[in-house]
Amino acid sequence: MQLPSVEVSQSPEAKFREYLASRPKPQRCTKQQERMVRFIFSQHNHFDAEKLIDAMKQAGLPVSRATVYRTLTKLVDAGLLRRLELGPSMYYEHDYGYPQHEHLYCQRCGAVIEFQHPELDALIRQVGREHGFHANSHTFIVRGTCSECNRARVTKRRLDLV
Ligand SMILES: [Zn+2]
Ligand SMILES: [Zn+2]
Repeated sequence: MQLPSVEVSQSPEAKFREYLASRPKPQRCTKQQERMVRFIFSQHNHFDAEKLIDAMKQAGLPVSRATVYRTLTKLVDAGLLRRLELGPSMYYEHDYGYPQHEHLYCQRCGAVIEFQHPELDALIRQVGREHGFHANSHTFIVRGTCSECNRARVTKRRLDLV
């Protein structure tokens, strides 16, 4: 499932190049980094560094492990990616060009379900107002078991009873 994207003025690659150039010690975007940014932004999903390394290798786009880890940190800093603490490892997803949304995370199969809810947004705004707090972003993750895993569990329990 993918939410409709948000209009942005620059391509992710251009935004990343601009970020690197604006560092106290300006850097240039390497070929590997550019390949990585293009690959990440070709589809929206939730991934960790190891999954990304595997997926890029499968797509015939080898990239060094060190580059992946280093570049992911920079992409978060540049506002292109958002970090999500789902399971034991750190996950990433697009932030740039993608709307604010929340997550249901299945601890059995690792499924991630994205959702948006106007009442939740209103509640967060209201709590902010009450505290005189200006919110820039938030992370909301509900952990549990997805419907498919629930169904599988019920079926297994029925079988156990037979
Ligand atoms: Zn599940
Ligand atoms: Zn998401």
